[in-house]
Amino acid sequence: MTVTTPSPVDALHERLRAPLPHFIGGEWVPAQSGDTFEFHAPADNRVLGRAASGDARDIDRAAQAAHAAFPAWKALSGKKRRALLYRVADLIEARAHDIAVAESTDTGQPIRFMKSAAVRAAENFRFFADRAEGAQDGLSLPTDGFLNYTVRQPIGPVGVITPWNTPFMLSSWKIAPALAAGCTVVHKPAEWSPVTATILAEIMHEAGIPAGVVNLVHGFGETAGKALTEHPLIKAVAFIGESRTGSLIQKQGADTLKRVHLELGGKNPVVVFDDADLDRALDAAIFMIYSLNGQRCTSSSRLLVQRGVHDGFVERLAERVANIRVGDPLDPATEVGPLIHPRQFEKVCSYFDAARADGATIRVGGERIGETGNYVRPTLFTDARNDMRIAQEEIFGPVLTVIPFDTDEDALRLANDVQYGLAAYLWTNDLTRAHTFAHGLDSGMIWVNSENVRHLPTPFGGMKASGIGRDGGDYSFDFYMETKNVAINLNGHRAQQLGMPGKEN
Ligand code: NAD
Repeated sequence: MTVTTPSPVDALHERLRAPLPHFIGGEWVPAQSGDTFEFHAPADNRVLGRAASGDARDIDRAAQAAHAAFPAWKALSGKKRRALLYRVADLIEARAHDIAVAESTDTGQPIRFMKSAAVRAAENFRFFADRAEGAQDGLSLPTDGFLNYTVRQPIGPVGVITPWNTPFMLSSWKIAPALAAGCTVVHKPAEWSPVTATILAEIMHEAGIPAGVVNLVHGFGETAGKALTEHPLIKAVAFIGESRTGSLIQKQGADTLKRVHLELGGKNPVVVFDDADLDRALDAAIFMIYSLNGQRCTSSSRLLVQRGVHDGFVERLAERVANIRVGDPLDPATEVGPLIHPRQFEKVCSYFDAARADGATIRVGGERIGETGNYVRPTLFTDARNDMRIAQEEIFGPVLTVIPFDTDEDALRLANDVQYGLAAYLWTNDLTRAHTFAHGLDSGMIWVNSENVRHLPTPFGGMKASGIGRDGGDYSFDFYMETKNVAINLNGHRAQQLGMPGKEN
């Protein structure tokens, strides 16, 4: 008898015949209310599946499980935590294709980019696994008669709240350092893309992460997410999402003095000077806004081009943008897929009208494609000014706004004149200009003559409305751990003597 293995697409649909459950205390459970919610496939907006709809009761159960599991997980040696996290990474790689298919189907991100989502997630797990043994390391700060030393300990159970763009990779980016640090986790993924969070929980369970160390509660931000930020047993919340949600999370966490880490939106400039390698700059500018459907926080959504090279650069850019292949996210040839949800689609399309109303030119695109699914044509706005909505607001779609500039001072003023400050990209061969400009930028991350290429020990995060705090390397441990100072006297020092009989001083 021949046994046929179902294709990853069939396997995904088979899995989604039943609602996705929560994962709490090592068990797969429905919502205590019994409620579920629908989520949809961006390619046709048909119902893709249902997930348990979590509320404060489910969050409480998950927080209790994370609290109960914390002492043993904290006490486990770094070596053992490392081995378990390596096992997670191996299992992620073994299921890389299934993960890519699920992520593409659920989010509309083209499969050509999602193929690396699992690879990146596995890298995140291995990177932080290797640091688990040294996570508690501190400093030695000796002074006269005293030895001070610092030591770190995990803060406790933490909440992780993730968005719908590249959810698998972003979840790993938060959960891996939390576990390496010795924290336990309650994860609340985005309601528009819950599938791969479920796969990640399965993998962690299969890898032998003990019950209660990682818990997953599906649900809406206003209910499950809010309850997580307010729960007294949750000591810190790591959040990735929109700036206005970030400020809500700070408010919600205030009563329980929650430590919060916010990775928020961006309106990132790519600045092309007239001395740059224009061919490479063109490839990078296109890649950073039209890959991942333009739904990436570090997308280069504002292109500032020096006047002397502006017209020629924009001409070549327009030709390339008009050529970008839009299609089914599962087709390997597709470069831009459908936007995640009709609401995000409407939001992106509303900027076509905003561009017209403000007097910009829609040089390419500016329209939807077909009647099925959330497809928009990759769009290029020219003749724009920095005070226009298309230059100030995070559109979060395959839409680029071009603005000319004359001098370095002009470019710096334009680059900084937005509420955000996440990333910036500079293209110049002038060393002095590159350094001077980078120092003047109010952005958390700056790449010179490159697109976003990550090195995991470096700090990741933004200034201004783009966030609070940094991830990456030891920066992640600063968030998930408390630093204690221990001061040891070495010279028999005595405190001032108060209340001694017969002495006035
Ligand atoms: P969102 O803020 O709408 O939702 C993010 C998560 O927060 C979801 O899980 C949602 O359910 C939850 N949530 C919503 N309201 C909540 C509340 N009151 N309390 C607790 N949780 C709540 O963001 P989104 O639309 O899913 O994601 C897109 C945004 O994420 C963009 O602005 C993008 O720039 C940003 N982002 C930033 C980074 C970064 O590293 N800076 C990375 C990826 C995405």
